[in-house]
Amino acid sequence: MEYYTSNVKSFEEDMICKGDSCHACQDLCPCNAISITEGHSSIDTRFCTICGVCANVCPQKGIIINRTKMNLENIRSKSWQNRLSGLTTGK
Ligand code: SF4
Ligand code: SF4
Repeated sequence: MEYYTSNVKSFEEDMICKGDSCHACQDLCPCNAISITEGHSSIDTRFCTICGVCANVCPQKGIIINRTKMNLENIRSKSWQNRLSGLTTGK
């Protein structure tokens, strides 16, 4: 079962990754999904769980996570449903 529909990407063209001196996203990714090559981060989406850590720590605000849909059908807790719904709405 898919729990969410989403995507993650690092850096729009007009943002600058400080990968040579930063490495924060790579150091903190719990899934070892981020590599830094020639000063730029890239995310291997096969391993990414869309946890959001990299987006939160990036000082350049260059990692974009877009959660578009959550599957809540098997979640019985109303408060947990509300919390998870917020991941797609930002509330
Ligand atoms: S969202 Fe989480 S799992 Fe995915 S690349 Fe970022 S830190 Fe790693
Ligand atoms: S945290 Fe941001 S600036 Fe630092 S290496 Fe990762 S993507 Fe680049």
